Amino acid sequence: MIISYLPLEKWRKNWHVNGTHIVCRHCHMVWDLANAKRPFTHAHDCKAKRDATPYPLRDLRQISEALHQTGLC
Ligand SMILES: [Zn+2]
Repeated sequence: MIISYLPLEKWRKNWHVNGTHIVCRHCHMVWDLANAKRPFTHAHDCKAKRDATPYPLRDLRQISEALHQTGLC
């Protein structure tokens, strides 16, 4: 079953999870999950720099918690 959950869809527009890394879909900068407490560093001209969260992992956790509360997964 594919769950369409808006905050998660939005998150996925900017980020991609690759094993233990999060990748920006726009500038393809790779960020190790071990750096979770530090803000994500985008490429100089990345268009997501302004719009995307600087803390993708923290946001993903919040989204996943909210999703669990809905009972959808
Ligand atoms: Zn970027």
